[in-house]
Amino acid sequence: MGPDPLDLEAFRRNAYALVDWIVDYLGGLASRPVCEPVRPGDVRAKLPDRAPEEPEGFDAVLADLDRVVVPGLTHWQHPGWFAYFPAQSSPPAILGELAQAGLGVQGMLWSTSPAATEVESHVLDWLVDLLGVPQQWKTTASGGGVLQSGASQSTHTALVVAREQCLLRTGAGPKDMVAYASSQAHSSIEKGARMAGFGHIRLLETDHEFAARPEALAAAVAEDRRDGLAPAFVCSAVGTTGTTGVDPVRRFGEIARVEQMWHHVDAAYAGSAMICEEFRRHQDGLELVDSYTFNPHKWLATNLDCSVMWVADRRPLIESLSVLPPYLRNEASESGQVIDYRDWHGPLGRPFRALKLWFVLRCYGAAGLRSMIRTHVAWARKLVERIDAHSRLATIAPTPFALVSFAHVDGDEATDELVAGINGDGRFHITGSEVDGKRYARISVGSTWTTEADVDALWNLIDATA
Ligand SMILES: *Cc1c(COP(=O)(O)O)cnc(C)c1O
Repeated sequence: MGPDPLDLEAFRRNAYALVDWIVDYLGGLASRPVCEPVRPGDVRAKLPDRAPEEPEGFDAVLADLDRVVVPGLTHWQHPGWFAYFPAQSSPPAILGELAQAGLGVQGMLWSTSPAATEVESHVLDWLVDLLGVPQQWKTTASGGGVLQSGASQSTHTALVVAREQCLLRTGAGPKDMVAYASSQAHSSIEKGARMAGFGHIRLLETDHEFAARPEALAAAVAEDRRDGLAPAFVCSAVGTTGTTGVDPVRRFGEIARVEQMWHHVDAAYAGSAMICEEFRRHQDGLELVDSYTFNPHKWLATNLDCSVMWVADRRPLIESLSVLPPYLRNEASESGQVIDYRDWHGPLGRPFRALKLWFVLRCYGAAGLRSMIRTHVAWARKLVERIDAHSRLATIAPTPFALVSFAHVDGDEATDELVAGINGDGRFHITGSEVDGKRYARISVGSTWTTEADVDALWNLIDATA
């Protein structure tokens, strides 16, 4: 017989040991390569063929984090992480995850754990004020916020509501419905439209700063109407994944109102910056928006998964998604006085995600988070200045937030070599990509653990390699 699973004192010891392990892991990251050298199958080769028949000690489990897991990781929390976008973690968020697991509640309905619902609603109402988005989006007004697993899921949900609204209004079938987004929009828009059954997705041409052109939207809608199609959904991107391009939210919103389309904003990455007032001009026109998503799990110090979705009016959302089997009927729901978050997204069962966000907001305060965002943006701008002053490098897009997009003046091959050289060094990780047929390099400043010295060291390596 192994240890008793109900032995809480053993749990206490193991939990302390695990916290010690996490501290050592995070503290030791700078001396590891960002990407461990690993080939397909290397990790599985270290695992036994069969699940253990008899219980093992927790020491053995912990030891295998070092033996099996760590050497098979890409270290997203590495201070040299400048790839993709950040997936921030932070001590309060890690503790929030632990508290969530310790409570182990399932908040599908208000009645299945009232605090899980009410803390979530309340924290997302706080964020309405902190990010300066319309007051109408609060749960205490007509709208409300819900936490989802990711922006992809928030966007998919918005597309389903848009489809139902279009069907109710026009009687059109999904195969005739059209969703519009920038050609620079995230793949989740196209995927969500496909999953929601849309027959058509139109990707709109962008300008020299990679913002979708409102004239392109107006022309595409007019053409589709002539062809007997039903324009149903338009997405404004605030901070595209490729270059953090910003679509004209107000112009798209005006067109959406006239054409009676659902208007969704995808601010998955850049939304967190709105905690600082100076970035809000990039999303002027939010009163013309039906739904909005951003990911605290990217740039607001909150571990995956944690994505905010707000709606300006919660009725169409709930009407589209509410299905009530008899075993979920209860007095609180029937009173109409409570929120049942199962009606706000696809999944039924849901974790107490708000706990980690609540911990983060309290332990850093809005001031701490603003300062983090501003620091990352300042470091990114310093890189932009150095790149633009460099004889062999040039930025290829503006840096409204903390993503720097640049290329080697000698062309695609030189740019790819530069990215390979930087990543080959091991201390840093950046992303090579392509836009309008041109190769470029992306540096996303935003790991929780990055310091100014890391940014300077990255620059020195770029300068030496270019
Ligand atoms: C990262 C990103 C997404 C996808 O977010 P998930 O939470 O991974 O689903 C969607 N849109 C944009 C603009 C993004 O940058």
